[in-house]
Amino acid sequence: MYMDLHMHSNYSDGKNTPEEMIEAAIGIGYETMAITDHVWRSSSWVPAYTAHLHSLKMKYRNQIQLYSGIEAKVVSLDGDIDADPSFDALVDLVLGSIHRIPKPDGYYSSADVDRMPQRVIVENWLEAFYRMLENPRVDIIAHPLSELKKFGVREEELPMTEITDRIADSGKILELNVRYNTPDQSVIRLSAHKGTAFLISSDSHTVQDLIVNSRLVKEFTGKGFRLIDIHRYVREKKTIS
Ligand SMILES: [Zn+2]
Ligand SMILES: [Zn+2]
Repeated sequence: MYMDLHMHSNYSDGKNTPEEMIEAAIGIGYETMAITDHVWRSSSWVPAYTAHLHSLKMKYRNQIQLYSGIEAKVVSLDGDIDADPSFDALVDLVLGSIHRIPKPDGYYSSADVDRMPQRVIVENWLEAFYRMLENPRVDIIAHPLSELKKFGVREEELPMTEITDRIADSGKILELNVRYNTPDQSVIRLSAHKGTAFLISSDSHTVQDLIVNSRLVKEFTGKGFRLIDIHRYVREKKTIS
């Protein structure tokens, strides 16, 4: 029961078509997959993209369960995401990710590493992250904490108990991202202890990535994390909305 629910096609910055990604996933032996292209609020191609994925869901239904998704970046300290709200009903899954750490007027850049006290960057990250956890539009926390690594923040400097409590309370799915090798061990350990449901994802941008990363996806899948029952999750989500 291997699956990969985070990858990109040439609808955004992936190099391959959805069909090529699907056929590679079938070749690997995945039973379930999602294509989750990056979107922006202004991405007018989303309806065509989701209609295309819907037709592929039908086409490949005897070989693999395909879900449609989007990856949307957190744009501000209030945890809002860079996706038009009309996109939500068109996809099965919304991945929320922090690519750049928001500040009151924009985002931190790498130049801020020397300019700003790290404490302030961490405070802003915590605010954006906690508010994303409260954002009902987000299903999956994609590559959690990856953005902090660019600022040299070590996990001992973070309130890990509070972070993992908030993740558990949010009921959101925590992604173990094998591409970024994130989150760190303590987040994984504490989250597993608190009953958070996990996903193992490759965040692939090419067929090659998908194949190479599948070894790690399979290895982590066998480690005994409580993995989300994604079929049930999507079914229940559709019933509620
Ligand atoms: Zn991302
Ligand atoms: Zn991604």
